[in-house]
Amino acid sequence: MSTPHYEVVIVGAGFGGMGAAIQLRRQGIDDILILDREQDLGGTWHVNRYPGLAVDIASVSYSFSFEPNPNWSRIFAPGAELKRYADHIAARYDLRRHMRFGVSVRSARWDAGQRCWVVTPAQGDPITARYLIAATGYLSQPRDPEIEGLDTFAGTVIHTANWDGSYDPAGRRIGVIGTGATSVQLAPELARSAAELTVYQRTPIWVVPKIDAPIPRPVRTVFAKAPAAQRAMRTANTVMLELLVAGQLRYRRFRFLNKTAAAIGRAHLRMQVSDPEIRDKLTPHYEFGCKRPTFSNHYYAMFDRPNVRLQTSPIARIEPDGIVTADGGRIRIDTLVLATGFSLWETNFPAFEIIGREGRDLGKWWRENRFQAYEGLTVPYFPNFLGLANPYSFNILSYFYTIEEQMGHLRRLFDQLKTHGAQVFEVTEEANSRYLARMTELTGDSIMINPTCLTSNTYYLDPHNEPSLVRFGANGAMLKRGRFPIGDYDYA
Ligand code: NAP
Repeated sequence: MSTPHYEVVIVGAGFGGMGAAIQLRRQGIDDILILDREQDLGGTWHVNRYPGLAVDIASVSYSFSFEPNPNWSRIFAPGAELKRYADHIAARYDLRRHMRFGVSVRSARWDAGQRCWVVTPAQGDPITARYLIAATGYLSQPRDPEIEGLDTFAGTVIHTANWDGSYDPAGRRIGVIGTGATSVQLAPELARSAAELTVYQRTPIWVVPKIDAPIPRPVRTVFAKAPAAQRAMRTANTVMLELLVAGQLRYRRFRFLNKTAAAIGRAHLRMQVSDPEIRDKLTPHYEFGCKRPTFSNHYYAMFDRPNVRLQTSPIARIEPDGIVTADGGRIRIDTLVLATGFSLWETNFPAFEIIGREGRDLGKWWRENRFQAYEGLTVPYFPNFLGLANPYSFNILSYFYTIEEQMGHLRRLFDQLKTHGAQVFEVTEEANSRYLARMTELTGDSIMINPTCLTSNTYYLDPHNEPSLVRFGANGAMLKRGRFPIGDYDYA
């Protein structure tokens, strides 16, 4: 048996990939290669640069608990600060030396003879590694809408995940397609200076106020000098977040929270939009929480501006200088902004071809069976593989809670390998089935029992109409930190 090139290959240099590397380094594993198709680290926060980009989970929580940042400028930090935080993490934990940029991974195949993964990049030679960690995230493949005539548009076309920093919206006639979290942040920024802005809405989104403010310098000084103060804020915020998602995860018991949030959203709408007809069009027809809600103090208010229009008639086609809707309306535009989100289920499960033991193709297997992964991380027939964005991994709180929970899982798993003097782990089929059965049971207690979710176009639902994006029952996950039963894995 030959020695693989690396002990571990991690695909993705975002926060997930960096968290995994930090954990492995803590356990004395230094022979790590981190590959990323981009030219720099930071994942989402490197790629997304559109105006208005900011977190919408308070920054005290949207950060590593072990690396608090006392310098956040606002309660909800702007995107550029997240990118700087990612750079800081890489520097602090000396991670850049592990990273190789501009490498897009095409496939990975388990070599049973050599007991290692063979990772094949789009260009260059295959790389072998004992362990493979996919940290490719969910929201990494921008989706262009399938609309007739899109390619005939003669003006500027920008997908939000590919923002052109030199684009100036001043005086332009802009059409924005999409009303998800991105559009909710971006459109009000464009509306400030555009000559005309038309928002094309297919499904209205719930929007609640964002309780945001700058963090005054004296408070930042306190955070820097007394980290316990910031930790206390984090804990308080976590409790709030837990309450926020309790209505989604434990719908039967906590649906009153969803109703309350919906009432807040409706009141917010009433206060910000004067035209009852527009209010009506902006009101979602599905339960709050079926799809990811958004937070903004400017989105609804934007529709009261004279230069902003809401278009709810479906788009029939795009012409070189305008958009035609099914009601026969035609609006002239010179800029088409695609706030149409990301392709998740088609491309990210998994993000590249992964072939395990006995030739099992992960994506094919998920599609033919059900989307599943033990504790949202590991899959039978895929030894020495962990997928951080596998089905049932995201606990829909701050993504950092998911990452840290996964770091706990890694710690325990690699400790066990050491204890067993083993090099190979594989989750048992029994453990995987038990976990899937538990997730299925919890789905029956979640908001997904509300039939309106099926009409909300939520990306929580996979192609089998199961909400396998969400890790149910993970409230308090921060406390759990990967305490899985040791016997759930085979070690060899
Ligand atoms: P999204 O939530 O998937 O929204 C895409 C929008 O485009 C939806 O309104 C969708 O309509 C519309 N759309 C897609 N294809 C269309 C078509 N062919 N015709 C008309 N409309 C079409 O994407 P996103 O807004 O980029 O957000 C994705 C996720 O990124 C968020 O849910 C969130 O998790 C994350 N995000 C986070 C932040 C933050 O925390 N700061 C900010 C932005 C994004 P339907 O609803 O009808 O499908």
